Amino acid sequence: MRDLNGCSGSLSDELLEWYDRHARDLPWRVSPAARKVGERPDPYRVWLSEVMLQQTTVAAVRDYFLRFTTRWPSVADLAAAADADVMAEWAGLGYYARARNLLKCARVVADDLGGQFPDNHDALLKLPGIGPYTAAAIASIAFDEPVAVLDGNVERVMARLHDIHDPLPGAKPLLRDHAAALTPDERPGDYAQAVMDLGATICTPRKPACGICPWQTPCAARKAGTAPDLPKKMPKKPKPTRHGIVYLARSETGTWLLERRPDKGLLGGTLGWPGTDWTDAPTPNPPFTADWQELDGEVRHTFTHFHLVLRVQSARLQAGFNPAPNQELVPEEAFRATDLPTVMRKAYELYANR
Ligand code: SF4
Repeated sequence: MRDLNGCSGSLSDELLEWYDRHARDLPWRVSPAARKVGERPDPYRVWLSEVMLQQTTVAAVRDYFLRFTTRWPSVADLAAAADADVMAEWAGLGYYARARNLLKCARVVADDLGGQFPDNHDALLKLPGIGPYTAAAIASIAFDEPVAVLDGNVERVMARLHDIHDPLPGAKPLLRDHAAALTPDERPGDYAQAVMDLGATICTPRKPACGICPWQTPCAARKAGTAPDLPKKMPKKPKPTRHGIVYLARSETGTWLLERRPDKGLLGGTLGWPGTDWTDAPTPNPPFTADWQELDGEVRHTFTHFHLVLRVQSARLQAGFNPAPNQELVPEEAFRATDLPTVMRKAYELYANR
C-alpha cells in the first residue's frame, strides 16, 4: 500500500528500488548489492564518516576519511593514536570539537566496550560526541535499526514530499514524524541512505530534478509548484565581526613558534599561532618583546557564529627562546602548514606570500 495518495506500492519500496540502481559510491558505504549478499558495514567506518560529515560536505570529507582509515584502520588503532597526530590529520576539516570527541569516543569504545560499538540508538547516544542524529545514522546504517535519520537533506525531502510550509527549525519535530512514519522495518539502513542520496542528488536545494525523481507522483510540493521554496527557514541573525592579531615568529634556522589552544572553545586543542583574544577591539599580546612588523593585508575567516578579521605580525625568533608550557618550537623540517586549522593556514599564507 502506498503511504500517500492511495496508489499501490509503498514509498519506501519505490525509493529502495531507485537506490538499488543509483546509490552513490562512497568510501564508507557498503553498496545495496553487497548488503543483499550479507556484507555488513563496519560500525567504525560508519561512525567516523558520520562525525566527519557533520557540517561538512561529502566532497570535503572523502580524502580525510581515506587518510584516517589508512592510518588508523580500526577503532583500537585510533584510540591508541597521539592526540596531536589526530588533531593534525583533522586540520582543515573545521569544528575541532569533533576531533577531540572522536578520540574520547574511540577510547571509550576501545577501553570499556572491548572495541565494539553498541548496536542500538539509545546506547550509542551515551558515547562522547554522539548526538541524536549521529546515533540514529549509525544505528540505522550499521545495525539496521528502524530509526528515523534526519539530516538537512532528509528535512528538505520531507518538507517537499508533504508540502510543509512551517519554517525550520520549528518544523523539525513534524518532519521527524514524517521521516519516522516512512522508515521501513525491512532494509532501514539502505532506506536512510536512499533518502540522503535523493536529497543530495535529485531533491537538491535550488533546482530539484522532479522529472527523474522516484517520488514525483506522490510529491505534494511538486504538484503545488512550491518545491524550490521549501523548506522554509526562519531568517538568520546577521553574524557579528570580531578582530584579532596573530604573531608569526621564525628563527634564522627556520624554527617556528606555535601555541596549542586550550581544549575547550573554538579550535580547542589545535596548534596555531600565538595571538590575542578575538573581540571587537583586541589588546595586543605578543609572545615576546620584539620589533613586530605588521604584514600588508589581513586574514578573513567565517565561523558558524561570527566573521573574523585577523591582522598578522611577524618578528625574528631569537635563539635560546624558552617556550611557555602551551607553546612548541617546531623546526622547519617538521612544520607543515597543512596541519594548521584553516584560519591559521591563511595567516601563514599571508606571511609566505608577503
Ligand atoms: Fe523533491 Fe521534486 Fe522529488 Fe518532490 S518530486 S521529492 S520536490 S525532487
